[in-house]
Amino acid sequence: MSEESYPDLNTYRHDLFVQEDQILKSVMPEAVALGLPPISVSPDAGQTLYLLARMIGARKILEFGALAGYSAIWLARALPRDGRLISLELDPKHARVARSNIARARLADRAEVRAGSALELMGEVSKEAPFDLIFIDADKESYPRYLDFAMDHLRLGGLIVADNADGHGHVHESLEPGDRRRGIQTYNRRVASDRRLVSHVLPIGGWLAVSVKVEE
Ligand code: SAH
Ligand code: MG
Repeated sequence: MSEESYPDLNTYRHDLFVQEDQILKSVMPEAVALGLPPISVSPDAGQTLYLLARMIGARKILEFGALAGYSAIWLARALPRDGRLISLELDPKHARVARSNIARARLADRAEVRAGSALELMGEVSKEAPFDLIFIDADKESYPRYLDFAMDHLRLGGLIVADNADGHGHVHESLEPGDRRRGIQTYNRRVASDRRLVSHVLPIGGWLAVSVKVEE
């Protein structure tokens, strides 16, 4: 007989490995009460982002799409004290909520949310390159544009991670022209075949596509 018992495998994995504290637990319920959509990464994906950032000793991280700061807190916690996370967020209300959660998590010294369209903010953000890790989780139709930026502003050995690589379960289907998930199809095709990257998807939550830059 084992000393431990859990009701199911998922509870076992979550309780043993996912270091989600009270602050992280409260971020999404509070955000939803404020009217934000419940579309953050899962706790499993958060722990994975944290692990990936730690594995490469990330010091500078860029995020596309902050929402309420849930994934930003996971990522910023992987940074050293003098590390930096910049998160780009279109919706000013989301940006405000994310900033307040980052401050509550005592990460305001290293994590910053910039409000505006990521496509428009990319110019000024390029001055802060190179990044060690770039996490893509904003509007799906722009994933290929974010990938272009990431290829040009990521250090060798750095990681590009994209959420929702399963296209909400439809990425394998033939999609209508204009379907925003086509951006994810293009993204996946490109990271899977670019010689400068080694990539795979981790089927966690809505799939994290993970790529490491192996060639300039
Ligand atoms: N990464 C967050 C979830 C992000 S949800 C987490 O896991 O906690 C996607 C976010 O991208 C939304 O907040 C949305 O407002 C933002 N977004 C959509 N289009 C954008 C754009 N063009 N530029 C920047 N952010 C955008
Ligand atoms: Mg997502």
